[in-house]
Amino acid sequence: MPLLVMKFGGTSVADLARIKNAALKVKREVERGYDVIVIVSAMSGKTNELVGWVEQTSPLYDAREYDAVVSSGENVTAGLMALTLQEMDVPARSWQGWQVPINTTSAHASARFKSIPSDNINAKFAEGFKVAVVAGFQGVSPEGRITTLGRGGSDTTAVAFAAAFNAERCDIYTDVDGIYTTDPRITDKARKLDKIAFEEMLELASLGAKVLQTRSVELAMRFKVRLRVLSSFEETDENSGTLVCDEDEIMESKVVSGVAYSRDEAKITLVTVADRPGIAAAIFGPLSEAGVNVDMIVQNISEKADGGAVTDMTFSCPVNQVARACKAMEDAKAAGSINFVELNVDSDVAKISVVGIGMRSHAGVAATMFKALSAENVNIKVISTSEIKISVLIDRKYMELAVQALHDAFELDKAG
Ligand code: ASP
Ligand code: MG
Repeated sequence: MPLLVMKFGGTSVADLARIKNAALKVKREVERGYDVIVIVSAMSGKTNELVGWVEQTSPLYDAREYDAVVSSGENVTAGLMALTLQEMDVPARSWQGWQVPINTTSAHASARFKSIPSDNINAKFAEGFKVAVVAGFQGVSPEGRITTLGRGGSDTTAVAFAAAFNAERCDIYTDVDGIYTTDPRITDKARKLDKIAFEEMLELASLGAKVLQTRSVELAMRFKVRLRVLSSFEETDENSGTLVCDEDEIMESKVVSGVAYSRDEAKITLVTVADRPGIAAAIFGPLSEAGVNVDMIVQNISEKADGGAVTDMTFSCPVNQVARACKAMEDAKAAGSINFVELNVDSDVAKISVVGIGMRSHAGVAATMFKALSAENVNIKVISTSEIKISVLIDRKYMELAVQALHDAFELDKAG
């Protein structure tokens, strides 16, 4: 029997009417001849409420009990979804993580999968059950305690099941109808993509296109799970939404597939540090220990000043980590491990990136990008590139303008 994984996020199961709507979509796939594994999130807002209750009860809570409480939101939805399907004469039952079992590490609140044996669920399919409704986001540790995967983890549960059961596809039902060339709130020219490669999605997911948990895309890429993102609030068929797939499945792609942005960035420059072996380690070691997520790094060409070689070191990080980053640098200076003349902070920058697997084989993307920004008089502060991405830091007030200009420059409103 062909098998599908269908995942419904929090807004798709927010109340009983929506659970019924989701169940109808499941029933349709059963009628098409599929066995279905349904992965459900907690009803929207539920996980936040549970986290709040834990924090109010015990500020320095025991992470094992946090997981026991916070995983329960998914249990409720799984049971309700199974009941709803039964009411529609679809043979279904619910599965909590330990019943499958979904074996994970014991890193509570951020557990990782170890194995998902398929025997128990397959035995039920063999008995005539058509749907297994599995609570997302949770698992069981080697010690037999309940674990959770980290916020947004149900996407990753869905992909892991698709891999473990060799599903034909993993459909992620959500409150948007697919992946767009850029944020439709910034330009109405944003276009829904039919297909996007895993690697491109990974760049877009980590850049803040919040549709899929980044880990789920990493897992899908590793196991070549075809992922489809589609709306649970619209009539959908096999061509709806956006397919996230291997690049071999994408015949002709444009050089650039999307423009991503990250609004709340900051740029920090250490002016005039000694240029000697170990200086980068002396700067970025303490930043990493302080939990600062450094993104772009630029080191100037050394110049000789006062007889010794000096350089400027610039990096970017999320704006809410600036205080932590500055303290780590001041502390390192006080301890004598680094020296700088000034610490310049610019907290009003945004990062804009153009992403596309086509860049591997096409020259000129950077030139087009820089020309488009220059035509709008947008100054570029930092540039970084990778094989399939070019990112720039610019003043935050020009962010929308820059996204629109780049979307036009790469003609992303027109299909491939
Ligand atoms: N309910 C969990 C959360 O809100 C997991 C998920 O929905 O993916 O983070
Ligand atoms: Mg989610």
